Amino acid sequence: MIRKDAELILTDKIRLEAMKNLSSLLTDYMMDIGMFRTCLNCAYWNEKNETCQYYKQKPPAKVIVCGCETHTDIPF
Ligand code: SF4
Repeated sequence: MIRKDAELILTDKIRLEAMKNLSSLLTDYMMDIGMFRTCLNCAYWNEKNETCQYYKQKPPAKVIVCGCETHTDIPF
């Protein structure tokens, strides 16, 4: 019985870890192909100082995550 419980816990942990990793990979992929329009994939985003070059300031968290109407796709 103890061994069976240990197997279930281990299996569950591996499954949860795998789901977390897959979710992260899927999110990165969707962002790379432009399905998400965030500051992070906008041509105006300055990664070095994490600011918007268009508005000359650091956008609020909601805008960083969701982008804004000025979002411009990176041309490459
Ligand atoms: S605030 Fe708008 S224009 Fe500036 S980096 Fe974010 S999405 Fe691009």
